[in-house]
Amino acid sequence: DPLWSRGLGDVYKRQPHKVRYVIEFQNVHKTYRVAGKDIPALHPTSLRVENGQVFGLIGHSGAGKSTLLRLINRLENPSGGTIVVDDEDVTALDASGLRRFRQQVGMIFQHFNLLSSKTVADNVALPLTLAGELSRSDIDRRVAELLDRVGLADHAKKYPAQLSGGQKQRVGIARALATKPKILLCDEATSALDPQTTASVLQLLAEINRELNLTIVLITHEMDVIRRVCDQVAVMDAGVIVEQGPVADVFLHPKHPTTRRFVQEDEQIDENEQRDDFAHVPGRIVRLTFQGDSTYAPLLGTVARETGVDYSILAGRIDRIKDTPYGQLTLAITGGDMEAAFARFTAADVHMEVLR
Ligand code: ADP
Repeated sequence: DPLWSRGLGDVYKRQPHKVRYVIEFQNVHKTYRVAGKDIPALHPTSLRVENGQVFGLIGHSGAGKSTLLRLINRLENPSGGTIVVDDEDVTALDASGLRRFRQQVGMIFQHFNLLSSKTVADNVALPLTLAGELSRSDIDRRVAELLDRVGLADHAKKYPAQLSGGQKQRVGIARALATKPKILLCDEATSALDPQTTASVLQLLAEINRELNLTIVLITHEMDVIRRVCDQVAVMDAGVIVEQGPVADVFLHPKHPTTRRFVQEDEQIDENEQRDDFAHVPGRIVRLTFQGDSTYAPLLGTVARETGVDYSILAGRIDRIKDTPYGQLTLAITGGDMEAAFARFTAADVHMEVLR
């Protein structure tokens, strides 16, 4: 699409990215004061988000996710610490500096926050009209290009009330990209949408991330959102990031109790129930996690033949984290040379956990 590549895409391709970390928090904390009481929403937190990544923050309600997100574009002011975005100390910005800075950081919301009295095109044009830097015809051209990119070229003249939830969020995305931001913040952007619409909006975000090398920070309480689009994830609980890393590492090998609970809720596993279910199963119980190429390798049969062990499958799933397939199998293993079988699993690039 020539319009797209000459317009938005070009800005990002022309500038080589000097900054490796586009967002840095150093000991940032936030306390709200309500009716004379201090509510610590974010305990001192240090965090780095790599340029071009999709960074997800997951946590239950009240964990401090929106506080952290809103500190990035200073919709909230920190109680202490330093926030550096794109090499700029945003805690030091004055009002005009903040206005200029906010053009670098787009944001989309759970309830879209569109103006109901304005058309789709006028909603998308709004940040550009407010910035006052482009001529009317340049604005019109940019808006047409943005609407085309989010698949709403035919809806420019409609009003928000005439659109579905998914279409409204596409307008929100187009509006957020209007000023060619370097960072896009997503505040529970798919929580009001049905699963199918969620998938298509997440797909659009993933495409935009790739095409524009746009850094995305999103907050959600749903594991599936993280699994579909994120490169990195941070798990939050009571104002603290309790675990953080590449999505596959964190979700396939959760260490912190909060992360383990998220994984179990997602897989609808009740550990106590499962322990009871497996109580009558003979042998050792192991969970194997296969990732990438190893997911489809015919390992089980080979190991069983070579070591004489027998196995029965107690539970299993195959899924994807972003573009990487993974499988998880819970097995009961009996007979044969069990230690040799375990050694073979471990040597075969498979993560093995002995459950019993
Ligand atoms: P999350 O986004 O994970 O649901 P929040 O960041 O909204 O969490 O909230 C973290 C904590 O801070 C909660 O205890 C919440 O009640 C409190 N909080 C959030 N915003 C405000 C505010 N504007 N005033 C007072 N307390 C707030």
